[in-house]
Amino acid sequence: MPIIEKRAGVRGVEANLRDYAATVASFSWSAARAELDGLPGGGLNIAHEAVDRHARGPRAATVALRCLGRTSAGGATRELTYAELSVQSNRFANALRTLGVGKGDTVFALTPRVPELYVAALGTWKALALFCPLFSAFGPEPIETRMRLGAARVLVTTATLYARKVAPLRAKLPALQAVLLIDAPAGAATEAGVHSLPDLLARASPDYVVPSTSADDPALLHFTSGTTGTPKGAVHVHGAVLEHHVTGKLALDLRAGDVFWCTADPGWVTGTSYGIIAPLTNGVTSIVDEEDFDAARWYSTLEAQRVNVWYTAPTAIRMLIKAGPELAHRYRFPALRFAASVGEPLHAEAVIWGHEVLGVPFHDNWWQTETGGIMIANYASMDIKPGSMGKPIPGIVAAIVHQRADGEVETVDAPDTVGELALKPGWPSMFRAYLGQDERYRKCFRSGWYLSGDLARRDADGYYWFVGRADDVIKSAGHLIGPFEVESALLEHPAVAEAGVIGKPDPTVLEVVKAFVSLRAGYEPSEALNRELVAHARRRLGPAVAPREIQFLPSLPKTRSGKIMRRLLKARELGLAEGDLSMLEPEPAAAPR
Ligand code: ATP
Ligand code: MG
Repeated sequence: MPIIEKRAGVRGVEANLRDYAATVASFSWSAARAELDGLPGGGLNIAHEAVDRHARGPRAATVALRCLGRTSAGGATRELTYAELSVQSNRFANALRTLGVGKGDTVFALTPRVPELYVAALGTWKALALFCPLFSAFGPEPIETRMRLGAARVLVTTATLYARKVAPLRAKLPALQAVLLIDAPAGAATEAGVHSLPDLLARASPDYVVPSTSADDPALLHFTSGTTGTPKGAVHVHGAVLEHHVTGKLALDLRAGDVFWCTADPGWVTGTSYGIIAPLTNGVTSIVDEEDFDAARWYSTLEAQRVNVWYTAPTAIRMLIKAGPELAHRYRFPALRFAASVGEPLHAEAVIWGHEVLGVPFHDNWWQTETGGIMIANYASMDIKPGSMGKPIPGIVAAIVHQRADGEVETVDAPDTVGELALKPGWPSMFRAYLGQDERYRKCFRSGWYLSGDLARRDADGYYWFVGRADDVIKSAGHLIGPFEVESALLEHPAVAEAGVIGKPDPTVLEVVKAFVSLRAGYEPSEALNRELVAHARRRLGPAVAPREIQFLPSLPKTRSGKIMRRLLKARELGLAEGDLSMLEPEPAAAPR
């Protein structure tokens, strides 16, 4: 795959990070901290860094959030400047105070992507309570488990979501004291413990002094995606804002005045770290779209909002590719300077597709709910090797490690050796707990390393390449086969829209490779196509690694955050128990193919 060379950033604009090696050599977290403000009495509070300091400076009147409403609800756009967001979140923090809610309490949100969600997040941080955003499409079961585990004291939601999903659970949520309805008109009579948020905000004072906050004070509770099993609740602290700010600037190339669109819902860590915090600390205008994915709407949003920096996910990119280049070519993106992707491996074809169709390549980056922020990235100024996750963020120490027989781990320095991807603990946004699972948390750390559970390799130039999740790696006839390599090869074929690869037990070679494939528009499953795909994979990968079997599916099972659930493909193939399905995305009624 050809390297995409960058001479002077992307589209001739010089990147924030100009020289990777020099930045790594000179970087220190304490020096980076000077770019933040700090509370007047000392300490670090996310909301202060994100809005208040801008609200008191030259960016007060800049639009912080531009929220595009659902077409079915009139499609109105609602904007909040930094000054307005500061005042609204002050009011929210004061409203919590009147309810007796503060440090040590948890505020949950279950709302669509509307301004109130962002106000609630920032107001909760000002009040030093723990914020936990839930994806609004969750059913009652995942809502109940999370709210019980997090001991939810307050819930911010809509009247409909409350009536449909939470009211029936109230008896099981003894800690839940107040429900704040974002759409209940002021003064509307409601049941005990249920309040109108507009009413509370209108009555609350617009002035608020953020209390002293330590960088170690808990700020966020985020659940993992549930790709490999039951989701874990990762706790993050206020000090994480330093990481968000730095990575927003260096890995996403954000600069004040940019229009930035992060497509993730705040119910996933990306939608909070890079949908709320990083863009605000960097002084940009964030686009928030309440509507779900729709290829034409997304292209038209990129064009009409003149988005400069775009952060999205492989599943969305695959859907855009599936929708065909003709649709993309109806739009123009002259403002787009930088595009990035996270959440799943991004195959090389998608990187190049971005380059050809949008005019900018996708910059893949890697991180996890646990890491709180981007850890490995492709930078605007650095040549891209399509298919690679890039290099560690300045200030982050990454390594490939092997486990020894005595259980300790050691780093593997020889290039291109597959091992577990590990990070040196202590980065500012490192998770501080798996809520209610202390032992599991401790097990993530060994011999002075945080173990990610992902397998990767580092090449001689220092680029990291994702191989697969440790759970998904296939062992066949003495080879270790990463599903990503096989899936990427299949995705090079013009008929293939999505691919998921598993190991199927085999008496002779331990496991054989089986691939599940969904097809792009215009292709139909057939024996001939099946044979053609096997032959294509054999040519690309050799017979030992190529899939032995390919099965066509209308679409692949995914988590609600859009990740292919290989464990479910495997369980179904082998007739095993399907495990925790609370995060399984419901099948589309008429599955597009
Ligand atoms: P769970 O931990 O509940 O099984 P999850 O690991 O999918 O779910 P997240 O924290 O949302 O939950 O996702 C992090 C994981 O996503 C990473 O560990 C990795 O496996 C995958 N991932 C994220 N970004 C990339 C990337 N750029 N390339 C490859 N894989 C990625
Ligand atoms: Mg995980």
